[in-house]
Amino acid sequence: MKRSEKRRSNRKSGMLAELMAAQKKRTSMLRILSLALGAATIGQAVLLAESVQRIFVENAPLASMIAVFAALLAVMAVRAWLAYANGRIGLRIAADAKRDLRARLLRLLAANPLLTARQGQTGGKVSVTLDAVDEADSYFSQYAPKMAEASIIPLLILVAVFILHVPSGLILLFTAPFIPLFMALVGIQTKHKSEEKFEQLARFSGTFLDSLQGLVTLKLFGRAKRQEKEIQRSSLSYRDATMSILRVAFTNTFALETIVMLGIGIVALELALQLVVFQTMQFHTAFLILLLTPEFYNMLKNMGTAFHGGRTSLGAIRNIEAALTADASSPLNASVHAERSADAQAPTDIKLPQSNVVSLSAGRSAKTSLSAAPPVIELHELGFDYGADTFVLNAGSLTIHPGKQIAIVGKSGSGKTTLLHLIAGLLPPSSGKVTVNGQSLAAGAGEDEWFRQVSYITQHPHIFSGTFAENIAIGADRDVSREEIVHAAESAGLAALAAELEQGYDTLVGEGGRGLSGGEKQRLALARAFLKRPTVLLFDEPTTGLDLHTERILLRAMNELSRKATVITIAHRLHTIRHADVILFMEQGTLIGGGTHEELLDTLPQYAEMVNIGRQGVGS
Ligand code: ADP
Repeated sequence: MKRSEKRRSNRKSGMLAELMAAQKKRTSMLRILSLALGAATIGQAVLLAESVQRIFVENAPLASMIAVFAALLAVMAVRAWLAYANGRIGLRIAADAKRDLRARLLRLLAANPLLTARQGQTGGKVSVTLDAVDEADSYFSQYAPKMAEASIIPLLILVAVFILHVPSGLILLFTAPFIPLFMALVGIQTKHKSEEKFEQLARFSGTFLDSLQGLVTLKLFGRAKRQEKEIQRSSLSYRDATMSILRVAFTNTFALETIVMLGIGIVALELALQLVVFQTMQFHTAFLILLLTPEFYNMLKNMGTAFHGGRTSLGAIRNIEAALTADASSPLNASVHAERSADAQAPTDIKLPQSNVVSLSAGRSAKTSLSAAPPVIELHELGFDYGADTFVLNAGSLTIHPGKQIAIVGKSGSGKTTLLHLIAGLLPPSSGKVTVNGQSLAAGAGEDEWFRQVSYITQHPHIFSGTFAENIAIGADRDVSREEIVHAAESAGLAALAAELEQGYDTLVGEGGRGLSGGEKQRLALARAFLKRPTVLLFDEPTTGLDLHTERILLRAMNELSRKATVITIAHRLHTIRHADVILFMEQGTLIGGGTHEELLDTLPQYAEMVNIGRQGVGS
């Protein structure tokens, strides 16, 4: 456990190092500019001390000072420009690093959209992708440039003070370490606090979004009030986490200021003694040291502030990295699955009765690439789990022959949807594979081609914000004419609805537009399928009773689409089940039987029982 934690933290620092390594040129530039800034700081102090010495001690005429003043002004301008340039480089580093982090996170989310959507709270994910990345900003934009300055400029000033007067140099040398020491102590505390704060924020976002999305459900169940309290509790704990960070930050600033004041005070006292009591020092030198001392401490103090900010955003960076690595090590990740498959439980092999197997013509099976004809889909020792100690699916091996009607049946929670997602290539198998015309889906190759052939009609098709016509048109991956859209809509029984809509096919639907009923949404999904003309149609049959009209339209449309396609349906209605060529029976994640209705009635008591219950109108 300890070793794995260590490995994880090594990996964490790895990402930051990687991000900084990508910015090598800019970080070198930061150092060069800091060196110049240090020189300018000392130069400015020297010129200022010189001016004061000449005007007040030597009573030099103003005219003789013009050159010194001009030089002073020039050095001040250069110093301001250098500070500005350093800040700008920091911002650029931050912008690039944030872009990189967001790209990594988005790649991760997009790599497995289905799992991403099915796991965890959406709000939490939004919080990592947006807020944590924003919080990471100050590490790059402030901490990095300030650290570059703080590691170079105080050193330059220290050398200058040592050259001018060794005892003052020694005071600086011995008081300075208190600042980083103190910062380190406080930093450790803020780091934990900032991680805690981030956790609270993620939880708060999650609770808030969940409640918003489920507002109707919450209202219906009279839980709105309780949820309101939950949001309040969650927002209050976020407030507390923020306040405790601020408290630490304020205490930090106060303590740092005290140390700085003390340091300057000691140097000033020592200078005064040398100058007035022992008279061993020139005014010019004493004044110059007095000018340099606050600069020295200020630099260290700035480092303290940057350090605090850096710690906070380091917490955020670690959270991002944890999100990235957690997903990479998740059993849901395809690549890790390949390693795990060796010790995965051996899946049951389902041998389908020969009578259901329609042999292929030699020519078609020889083709390896996907073609316009329905493909042969094969499951090879297919297994899946959502993670350790969760649901395990064993689908075994089977062949789905082209053009067949397959019904997946089983109790709710038996793994029907998971199996369909695996066949669709939306979930990466934990063990085994799904092949389409002999080509593995997991390899990623040919994925585009595969998705071009598949239509998946879920129970809740997504309606995008746009016009009715646009929503149908996304079914095709090409430009489609209005006639084609209208034709597809008619085939899916949407003509009447389109006529009813105020602006016909140009009516805005989805978010911000007109809502559609469940039946209308499914018909819209069918219209998309009509445009696409898939060779594989995956269908999640509605569990709730559709009205007779919709059901008839759906049946007719499905029949028409299935003429040139393999249809795999998560079936609930006896009618669909009975007419399937092959029924796959799932029980607790295992595919325990496959065959026709009659065969299963004879061989599988569980199936007979399900049919019996179905006849009595209970359904599965
Ligand atoms: P069905 O479609 O037969 O109702 P599912 O395939 O949806 O069943 O789910 C099968 C099992 O997998 C259920 O026990 C469910 O709780 C579990 N499950 C579904 N999605 C996830 C997920 N994202 N993480 C963990 N378990 C899941």
